[in-house]
Amino acid sequence: MKWEVVKGDITTLEVDAIVNAANKSLLGGGGVDGAIHRAAGPELKEACQKLNGAETGEAKLTEGFNLPADYVIHTVGPVYNDGTRGEAELLKACYENSIKLAREHHIKSIAFPSISTGAYRYPIEEAAEIAVDTVVQLTKDSDEIEKVVFSVFDDQTEKIYKKKLSEIES
Ligand code: ADP
Repeated sequence: MKWEVVKGDITTLEVDAIVNAANKSLLGGGGVDGAIHRAAGPELKEACQKLNGAETGEAKLTEGFNLPADYVIHTVGPVYNDGTRGEAELLKACYENSIKLAREHHIKSIAFPSISTGAYRYPIEEAAEIAVDTVVQLTKDSDEIEKVVFSVFDDQTEKIYKKKLSEIES
């Protein structure tokens, strides 16, 4: 199976790249961002300091340092407001730009967290639909990206992602 929902800590996954749900500074934060910086070690922050931040929807790449993953792709999800401020397009751009960068670096396996659905408050049903639709659409015909993991951290997110994926595959 090319697309898989895996519950647990994204920092433990043995994939070529993990995606970080970062903030615009790209210098670390809470949630999955904090977990990735802790697990990768201080060299990750040093590498991020050279990136000069990122805009919402953009993606930038560093090495993975102490992580099992070779690379971290840092993308900035939108803060959800009321859904009328381009949130859906910006969230989609995070997945698109991350996959584009993965291709440029010949990454074969990649894991995404559920971008924007924690501190940034994006409604999970809508965010999961954007995540799964965008990723499946972009990778279904690609030989280079062999595996995509949707890394989820709680039961509800796991259930919703699994449902979206099964709808798309059927
Ligand atoms: P954002 O600011 O983009 O909303 P958060 O880190 O607050 O990012 O939350 C995004 C998602 O990542 C949430 O579903 C949260 O439960 C999940 N998460 C937090 N820590 C981890 C981790 N170590 N591995 C995978 N997912 C995580």
